[in-house]
Amino acid sequence: MRRKLAAGNWKMHGGAGDLAEIAALAAAHPSPVSEVLICPPATLISRMAEAAADTPVEVGGQDCHAETKGAHTGDVAAGMLAEAGARFVILGHSERRADHGESDADVHAKTRAAWDAGLTAVVCVGETLEEREAGRTLEIVGGQIDGSVPNGASPERLVVAYEPVWAIGTGKVPTLDQIGEVHGFIRAQLVDRFGAGAADGIRILYGGSVKPGNAAEIFGVADVDGALVGGASLKAADFGPIVTALDAAGA
Ligand code: PEP
Repeated sequence: MRRKLAAGNWKMHGGAGDLAEIAALAAAHPSPVSEVLICPPATLISRMAEAAADTPVEVGGQDCHAETKGAHTGDVAAGMLAEAGARFVILGHSERRADHGESDADVHAKTRAAWDAGLTAVVCVGETLEEREAGRTLEIVGGQIDGSVPNGASPERLVVAYEPVWAIGTGKVPTLDQIGEVHGFIRAQLVDRFGAGAADGIRILYGGSVKPGNAAEIFGVADVDGALVGGASLKAADFGPIVTALDAAGA
């Protein structure tokens, strides 16, 4: 049985004043059925980890470098995230693939680095609208998983997030059938590659315009083990109801 995961990606939002959202989220969900994760900007990880201590809320990073240290101005190593209090790290988000030219090989190397630092990698995959309209969704997603996920994946080390690029921050969401098709495909691919024993425990999140109003129906789709949420994770008043919907799906 996979424990559901509600993951929030704050992107480049949030400062010290927003730590109150963690207290509010924890107060509303003192013992959630689901695992609850917030990934703030790197500058806030350590303070958020302190604010979240003794609460069910876990903290993660949004990226890491593939090396453990070195002359890489502006970058953060996976071990540094772990030392700051992160337990997870999002890797290969489409905004990083687009803004920083990250390739599957880059994500692969970063995932290895995350594992070496004891972090769980949340590896993001997803097609563009052009790719979907060309009927290439499964080919693109399959290729990204092949290229981005190293050998040795396990439920403790890996979470996959299916995030159609065209659904991120747009208010557009695939149909439930489309979500189910891709999640089923990803599950089968994980079984092929890692065997049923490991693959059955690896969580597959859906991401892309998940809101309190659409969460429950998305969480009803087979092989959707939770969500990676951007905009609606910034306020406990929005993210809380998403956690509630996920708890209901996992109960
Ligand atoms: C994301 O950035 O991973 C995301 C899913 O964003 P949003 O929920 O705002 O679409």
